[in-house]
Amino acid sequence: MASKKVPSFEYALCMACGSCLPACPFGCLSLSKQGLDRYRTAFPRLDRPESCTGCALCAKACPVDCIGLVAASDLVERKKENS
Ligand code: SF4
Ligand code: SF4
Repeated sequence: MASKKVPSFEYALCMACGSCLPACPFGCLSLSKQGLDRYRTAFPRLDRPESCTGCALCAKACPVDCIGLVAASDLVERKKENS
């Protein structure tokens, strides 16, 4: 069975504009101040992965095209690698 898709953010490009948040019909995204660096005020993150349908509306709303849809299982693996 194909793995469920969820958004993954290219943080180097993200300018924390917040446009992806209201684009999500299910309120899955939030802006977080966790992991701040000297250039950015916030980072978008997927707060409610269980409610995400992989519809990609957040990716379409991003003005700098820094959201990609990836398999949820890949995201878990990436988080493990980065921790
Ligand atoms: S893919 Fe769709 S449901 Fe998932 S976070 Fe983006 S807008 Fe929300
Ligand atoms: S719409 Fe794009 S640039 Fe704006 S906060 Fe979301 S991911 Fe970042």
